[in-house]
Amino acid sequence: MLRTMRNIGIMAHIDAGKTTTTERILYYTGKSHRIGEVDDGEAIMDWMEQEQERGITIQSAATTTYWKDHQINIIDTPGHVDFTAEVERSLRVLDGAIAIFDAVRGVEPQTETVWRQADRYNVPCIGYVNKMDRLGADFFYVLEDVKNKLKVNIAPLQIPIGKESSFEGVIDLIEMKEIRWENNGEEMQFSPIAPERENTAKEWREKLIDTLSGVSDVITEKFLAGEELNASLIKSELRKAVLSRGILPVFAGASRRNLGVQPLIDAIVDFLPAPDEAAAASGHNTKKEEEIKIPCDPKGQPLGLVFKIQNDREAGSLCYVRMYSGSLKSGTAVYNIGKKKRERANRILRMHSNKSEPMDSLSAGDIGVVIGMKLAQTGDTIGGEGFPVLLEKMQFPEPVISISIEPKTISDQDKLKDILALLSKEDPTFTIRENDETGQLVISGMGELHLDVLVTRILKEYKLGAKVGNPQVTYRESIGKPNDHSENFSKILAGKENAAGVTLRVEPAKRGSGNKYVYAAKTSSIPAEILEAIERGINGAFSSGIVMGYPCIDITATVTDIRYSEQTGSEFAFEACASMAFDEAARAASPLLLEPIMAVDLSSPHEFVGEVMSLVTQRGGQILSMNSKTDIDEIKAQAPMEKMFGFMTSLRSVSQGRATFSLEFSHFEKKSER
Ligand code: GDP
Ligand code: MG
Repeated sequence: MLRTMRNIGIMAHIDAGKTTTTERILYYTGKSHRIGEVDDGEAIMDWMEQEQERGITIQSAATTTYWKDHQINIIDTPGHVDFTAEVERSLRVLDGAIAIFDAVRGVEPQTETVWRQADRYNVPCIGYVNKMDRLGADFFYVLEDVKNKLKVNIAPLQIPIGKESSFEGVIDLIEMKEIRWENNGEEMQFSPIAPERENTAKEWREKLIDTLSGVSDVITEKFLAGEELNASLIKSELRKAVLSRGILPVFAGASRRNLGVQPLIDAIVDFLPAPDEAAAASGHNTKKEEEIKIPCDPKGQPLGLVFKIQNDREAGSLCYVRMYSGSLKSGTAVYNIGKKKRERANRILRMHSNKSEPMDSLSAGDIGVVIGMKLAQTGDTIGGEGFPVLLEKMQFPEPVISISIEPKTISDQDKLKDILALLSKEDPTFTIRENDETGQLVISGMGELHLDVLVTRILKEYKLGAKVGNPQVTYRESIGKPNDHSENFSKILAGKENAAGVTLRVEPAKRGSGNKYVYAAKTSSIPAEILEAIERGINGAFSSGIVMGYPCIDITATVTDIRYSEQTGSEFAFEACASMAFDEAARAASPLLLEPIMAVDLSSPHEFVGEVMSLVTQRGGQILSMNSKTDIDEIKAQAPMEKMFGFMTSLRSVSQGRATFSLEFSHFEKKSER
């Protein structure tokens, strides 16, 4: 059962054809009734209203389909870097991926970003050069570009027959046959290689064997002995190389014209790993305080990761769960390991592209939707009480922009808070803050588009009228030098004295290292609650800032002494005292304001590149590199976030809408440094 399962994702630069290809896969695997066209806004995977309007895929949903006795779970990954967290989250739960390249553009900036992430998670990949029918399509150029930019060992398993509008099929270099498609791509026609293409095909087949023998001794030996290399041997050796990320096999096609899709689905089965062949998940046993590997074993202790939550007005929270070990039965209790709370898995569903199907249980390796859990948040580990293991936490980047949001009618304030709470359960990269003085709600996220999408969801999906402020940069505060401060606190509450004394040292830490709390007081026999109260006070002070109220970063706060008496010492007093000690210490430690600097990746048609670059420099940006391609130039730059608002509009106007860009958080920098 496990060996016939695949959990895969499709990653690509926006517009490379991920949605179109996914649609075709679902169509040919027979699970969707008709081919949805992205351009009609009807694609099945892009099921949220907003995604359809914007024509981009935002949320990753998992869809199950079947091909040649194999079950394929497709985890949708977003193409836009404003949604990096979504990409990270899907990479966590998939075992293999298809990387799609545009046949004209080759490797685009976001492809590189996603590739780096796939590297980090060790995800085996296959490559697909889509849009072979486009004017300027060049399979061999893309191969070179992939090899140079992604530094991988590529092995084309096909070469195209014809290109641009005359692209008609591929030569399969393993079977050494020509493949053409008929009848809406539903029928494949196989024929012998035409004499005029025979030499080229032989040459590429030789390159394939050569590449493969670089990683396979079996192939090398057989080849040297002059033995016949049959297709199944080549495939099984290739499979090993793909699983160890030693080779990237590459396919060609034009998904929109229904050319090339079935061999790609075969390749999912042939080359991408089954759940028990993928690298075992890592976890942390909270009882024994040790790191463990979790083998994919349906008979093991139950352990699963909630990797996605979608709120459905009828069913409540749809928790997408990937099981790593054991199984989860529908209608039974589940234990939320981090939150130490029991919940019920009322129902378990398998999601197909157009329907959902109830399941009795969800086993190791598989992905499904659990309904009934109210506490679970994205990133939570669920399982049983007897096996307290937390799966590795997902890492999310820093939110760098904020907007204030206010309901049109004051009576809607609570409703708005509820909606924001629901949305943040689905998306851990956005945060909500309530301004202590004004009571105004401020939401922070990864970029303008990210917040825009959240706001549109509030307005449209939840139909709540709200006013939003202009986007603002979320700065950070830090300090420029070390400082010590001793604070004493005393307050009479209900006739009883509450007193505390805390001495604290604050020190600047290396940029990017985050805040750290250290307890180094020599005072002994302090109750644990008091120590926890001090830590709470410091952590609270870290997030409420120094001078401007922005969150602190890169500060180490060390408690060097405390004054505690059993009669008057209370948690309340120590929490307040620690927080005040921090504020006083930091205020006199040369406070600094840090601003987020963004990595800006642009692509522009040649004729606009001058204007595009000066647009970036006008906004205080620095051009880092430029790379010229057949139809466009790619520019990498860095610019302060505060100057990048509304950049999309200016970029459109200088390039007649033809230049594109992405913004991704790079680092924080002292505000006056630029
Ligand atoms: P995504 O952003 O990666 O999901 O890309 P889409 O699937 O939405 O496709 C982006 C655009 O490229 C759409 O207009 C598609 O119709 C078009 N497209 C997709 N596949 C092909 C193809 O094989 N050939 C051509 N010429 N266009 C394609
Ligand atoms: Mg899409």
